[in-house]
Amino acid sequence: IQSKKDKLVQIYEEAASFYHQILLNTVTGQEALDYMMQRGFSLETLKEFQIGFSPSNRTALYQMLKAKHFDDELLQESGIFSERRGQNEMFDRFSSRIIFPLRNPKGKTIAFSGRILQASPDTDSDYHEAKYLNSPETLLFNKRDFLFNFDKSRSEIRKSSEVILFEGYMDVVSAWQAGVRNGVASMGTSLTEEQNRMLTKVADNIVIAYDGDRAGIEATKRAIEILDKNKHFDISIFPLEAGMDPDEFIQQKGAKAFCEAIKNNRETSIQFFSRYLKTQLNLDTEKNRITYIETILKALVSLDSLIERELYLKELSDEFGIPVDSLQKQLKGYQQQLISERTGQRQSNPAPISHYKAN
Ligand code: ATP
Ligand code: MN
Ligand code: MN
Ligand code: MN
Repeated sequence: IQSKKDKLVQIYEEAASFYHQILLNTVTGQEALDYMMQRGFSLETLKEFQIGFSPSNRTALYQMLKAKHFDDELLQESGIFSERRGQNEMFDRFSSRIIFPLRNPKGKTIAFSGRILQASPDTDSDYHEAKYLNSPETLLFNKRDFLFNFDKSRSEIRKSSEVILFEGYMDVVSAWQAGVRNGVASMGTSLTEEQNRMLTKVADNIVIAYDGDRAGIEATKRAIEILDKNKHFDISIFPLEAGMDPDEFIQQKGAKAFCEAIKNNRETSIQFFSRYLKTQLNLDTEKNRITYIETILKALVSLDSLIERELYLKELSDEFGIPVDSLQKQLKGYQQQLISERTGQRQSNPAPISHYKAN
């Protein structure tokens, strides 16, 4: 007997193939197909990811699934449909969107993300529909532990012990087409602990390749904090100029340039952090320069590599004309401070009373 989960997967698989056929083989899908082709995606790539299009007819998918005898309760639970108030018809919530099937590690489709065809620059303001719409959480789909493309990238990630973390599906698909096959995306939201755990099992190196805009930089900082917690990963960052994402890089500079850049242009966490701080602090003022230097020195305390630390001290010294010795002294001060803070904490947090009573 089939479990409910199996049946839900079946619904998603049927729907994915329905949407895919519409994109590739119908007049209804033509505009979306033209759009994807004009963005540089090949037919082969669209097939590989089974990208689709949901027609403007909001009941077409429902009718198809009903003809295959799926019952309403299950279709409702799939999250693909929304029931309009006062009507008992089921409407395709992804209608008129380009469909990205979201697949589990076994390659089964368990959710969708739909992108609107014409995204205006401020799509996320109140007046416009959201650029991307995801399936709601279901029995099958929990976005906190979902990684886009993990099914297809896992073997390459294992082989190279390296994973590239993107912000968007388009970036992953575009990078895949360019030959970068160890990419995943973290659902736009910042990386979660669960996603971190999944990745630590298959790789020791991680490259964060988020968008070059403000949101991407902030998300990179948060991702580093999460990834750094269990000290598993060697983390690097692929820096992109403001207003560019990996897919746009590929479109503008080509696949070959991207493959080379993602290999060779990598920042360390400290290099990223220093760039990040410079977006926050205007270094024209003395006060901000001091804050900047102090913040970097504090960050250096947690570095394991002595050589790396020396290198950054030298760079700071050159940049701000401060003798390395002075920076070194200050750094030592911060190290001491950290140690005494830690021991101090232990003293001020004695073991609970119950612990003593037990003896
Ligand atoms: P495109 O190139 O088509 O504009 P993108 O991947 O560059 O797509 P971004 O705006 O950079 O789109 O968003 C990156 C990711 O963030 C998306 O892939 C999606 O997972 C998520 N995302 C963006 N906007 C939304 C939204 N309104 N609701 C939910 N998720 C979103
Ligand atoms: Mn973005
Ligand atoms: Mn983007
Ligand atoms: Mn993009």
